[in-house]
Amino acid sequence: MPSTLEERYEKVLRSLPDGPALLAQALALEDEYQRLTAKLMRDNGAPNQVLRDYASAPALSGNGKAAMEALAALSNQLCGANPDLPQVLVRWWPERLPSASCAMGESGALIRVNLGMLTHLRLLIHLLCSCLGSITGDEARWGEDRLTVDQARGEYLAMIDEFVGGEPVPLYKTVLVHWGKRERFRRVATLAGLAYVIAHELGHADLLQAASATPGPFEVSAAEPEMISHEAETSADKAAFRLLRALAPLDQDEDLAFAYAAGAASALAIQACLFWFKASHSDETLAWTHPVPDLRLGMACLALGDPEEADRLASPTPRGASSSTTNKRQARIAALKLWLDTVTGVSLFREAALARDLRGRGLSPAQLMTLYVAYGIPVPDKGVSHVEERQAGEARSL
Ligand SMILES: [Zn+2]
Repeated sequence: MPSTLEERYEKVLRSLPDGPALLAQALALEDEYQRLTAKLMRDNGAPNQVLRDYASAPALSGNGKAAMEALAALSNQLCGANPDLPQVLVRWWPERLPSASCAMGESGALIRVNLGMLTHLRLLIHLLCSCLGSITGDEARWGEDRLTVDQARGEYLAMIDEFVGGEPVPLYKTVLVHWGKRERFRRVATLAGLAYVIAHELGHADLLQAASATPGPFEVSAAEPEMISHEAETSADKAAFRLLRALAPLDQDEDLAFAYAAGAASALAIQACLFWFKASHSDETLAWTHPVPDLRLGMACLALGDPEEADRLASPTPRGASSSTTNKRQARIAALKLWLDTVTGVSLFREAALARDLRGRGLSPAQLMTLYVAYGIPVPDKGVSHVEERQAGEARSL
């Protein structure tokens, strides 16, 4: 009799050295984060209603089990919105790398979301919410910003330095509190960031289910050729954007829809930052099988924040004149993308990385060509060899 998804998850967790202890430790840190946040809010005289709201599961702050409950609530919501999906179990995974993975087995799909994704997402979105006035060009609506772009970048890059140096992301740095509209935005965007990560993995589960007539044992997704092609990644992204747009339609609430775009784009900016950091600071193999993360970030911004423009770009017919709402949306999305590029250091690291020769670093010829074209770099004399193609083996999952 095939074992249940839950049993499979437990088995994979026990196969990790100290797996169950690491998970318990990471979740205890989450509890500590939530305790500190609640204390900070009480000390600052938050009204009881706000404290109660903050303690509810989807807030990802305020009570001990919030992280577990939030993940379960999110996956139910996402799976409920797509009844064609296989049976799915979504669980936290005790790894610090901000990433996620999907593996198929006989009884369905197991999606593991690294707790590192939550830590990185939380800090980046806290910083983003501190700058919402300048990003949207509407400080009157959001109130005075708490940080300048430079301050936000300083905080984020200090965290990345510690992260890359192997330090745990210090808890106290990520404990920040917003109020009112900004707080609502923070919660929605953080959940939307996680929702994008899960929805992307659900896109893989859907593809894998369709592709494999004979489901194999639970194994890491790297073994599946379907999981490591650009096409598979792009379709998983498209499926994720469809799902997120259904949950937050632009015509119903512009702020909500913008928070969804900001959440998904933040998850991709985190990936882009680490990709370009590694590309610029080392000679290590990049082992990256996905489309370049900042290009995915651009797609996420368009598909979620300005879908009409995304449709126009995809269509061969000439562009129509934009309405003032569309112009406002476009300006906001462009500012969001620029803010993420700047604060996560992507533009800086990318410039340094592109000044080096990225051939022989495990990128496929297609990936290299995409980079040369996207960033206007002349193709090197010797072109792009096929050796790279063979080196591009190992998959990073998201
Ligand atoms: Zn993927």
